Amino acid sequence: MRPTRRRRPPVTPEPEFAGCEIEVLGSGTSVGVPTIGCHCKVCTSDDPRDRRLRPSVAVRFYDEDIRRTVVIDTSPDFRQQALRAKLERVDAVIYTHDHADHIMGLDDIRPFNYGRPDRIPVYASPSTLQSLRRVFPYGFAGEGSHPGGVPRLDARPVNADPINLFGMVFQPVQVDHGPKKILGYRFGRAAYVTDQTGFPAESLAQLQDLDVLFLGALRHLPHPMHSTVGQALELVEMLRPNRAFFTHVCHELSHKETIRQLPSGVSLAYDGLRIEVEG
Ligand SMILES: [Zn+2]
Ligand SMILES: [Zn+2]
Repeated sequence: MRPTRRRRPPVTPEPEFAGCEIEVLGSGTSVGVPTIGCHCKVCTSDDPRDRRLRPSVAVRFYDEDIRRTVVIDTSPDFRQQALRAKLERVDAVIYTHDHADHIMGLDDIRPFNYGRPDRIPVYASPSTLQSLRRVFPYGFAGEGSHPGGVPRLDARPVNADPINLFGMVFQPVQVDHGPKKILGYRFGRAAYVTDQTGFPAESLAQLQDLDVLFLGALRHLPHPMHSTVGQALELVEMLRPNRAFFTHVCHELSHKETIRQLPSGVSLAYDGLRIEVEG
């Protein structure tokens, strides 16, 4: 007689965070740097770190032996950013919010549909999905309704629950963007937050014990919809990540001069910056 084995209850464990690489596709504010028609010293600077496309990042990680790429936001510069970062695949797109500087490149996701039979999943809050469907209705329409030349997208609403993408868990985090409510995302020991002016109390708990934290820091002068460098530094003080990178930066901040004034562990992001996050 075979010994009876005690059966384990079925569990769906949270996958272990195996590390990832974050590449900054764009570190600039909504108009980008240089700003059209501007001749200030940052807009005319020779430092490549002063040339900032609109804000977005790519997160790359291994799912078994497949190297996945998840993009957070598709800026109006997405095509140029994908070429520069040599993106060969986009497995999913997730959105922080529906402002034009964060969504307008979605049409350029099209080449990533080539050679894959399924639609590319697009994760966003219900209100952001509504905007995406209004701006790019053809991307979400039924098969065959727009033959050729359109992205094929699958809308996936995000609420407070974690999103498991190919073994990587992205936890949505509520963010205040002036009076607007938007999302940031925590994945493993990294979090990407942009356009914030602050956080509701429950989000602060979700942003503890981070290795890497991205935050928006527009400039030094106050703005109703964005944190200044000083306000972003206060958030860093409060959340105490190992490393913080400021993004969504306007032409009032020179990269070289600004990083000199930042405390250790805090830096300005720049386009093309790659950060390894350990598992
Ligand atoms: Zn923005
Ligand atoms: Zn915004």
